[in-house]
Amino acid sequence: MIENKNIRTLAVLILALVLVVSACGKEKNMADDSDLLIVTSFYPLYVFTSNIADGIPGVKVVNMTEPQTGCLHDYQLVPGDLKTLSKADIFVYNGADMESFLDEVINQLPELKLVEASKDIPLLTDEDGEKNPHVWVSITGAISEVRNIMEGLSEADPANSEKYRKNGEAYIQKLTALKDKMHNELDSITNRDIVTFHEAFPYFAQEFDLNIVSVIEREPGTEPSAGELAKLIETIKKTGVKVLFAEPQYSPKAAESIANQTGAKVYYLDPVVTGPKDAEKDSYERIMEENLNVLKEALR
Ligand SMILES: [Zn+2]
Repeated sequence: MIENKNIRTLAVLILALVLVVSACGKEKNMADDSDLLIVTSFYPLYVFTSNIADGIPGVKVVNMTEPQTGCLHDYQLVPGDLKTLSKADIFVYNGADMESFLDEVINQLPELKLVEASKDIPLLTDEDGEKNPHVWVSITGAISEVRNIMEGLSEADPANSEKYRKNGEAYIQKLTALKDKMHNELDSITNRDIVTFHEAFPYFAQEFDLNIVSVIEREPGTEPSAGELAKLIETIKKTGVKVLFAEPQYSPKAAESIANQTGAKVYYLDPVVTGPKDAEKDSYERIMEENLNVLKEALR
């Protein structure tokens, strides 16, 4: 009786072990043999790359960070990220110093193929000469990044090159139509002075000829000091700016306190850095359409 029970326990254990081993084997095979795994660093690149690789058999796109992570300024890799990257064939990243952890990735995974979305795109710099990485926030910048990703994937995975190009060109057409629409609706506004949150909007402002009078927080999460707040309030009163653009990803506390003291109104512009886990293919266009509506209401 006791012996029987032991045998049964042993059989269950062996079965469990077989299941575990075969499950591991399957996962490995899927990543290594049948699938080409493309990993993107954060949300906007995930949306772009998903469009470019859409419907290509055996090609899978995974985002390394959680979709609510936002910009990767000062982001530190966690062990799970390296695990994700270790299964990847291609890593699509923004560049322009957005991913300060890139050297670590290159050191740990020298075989990983890299695609830099901001490659050769003229970058804006701040007064300290630091590169502004938020290229995708203008539609022209987004189109250039899509083109770079499309070319990079074609080179890294030549077998699917034609498919990447076909998808990429179709996506670029949609983005171009959106850019034209936004120009049509924004070119006639007369009030162009705005105050924004963190340094996400200079490319967008350049594209639509908006004048960023001041930036409320230099880096997300760093609240302005009392002195900085006082200076901002003075600037806003002097320039007569009527609208402050906060971002849905960050606390609006500073913007609201400035608004209270100046009579300016707070609106929300979205720099397309977060979204739902299974991002819809048209997430970028939808968020920009929403930004267009906000701008029209705020600046009319
Ligand atoms: Zn940012």
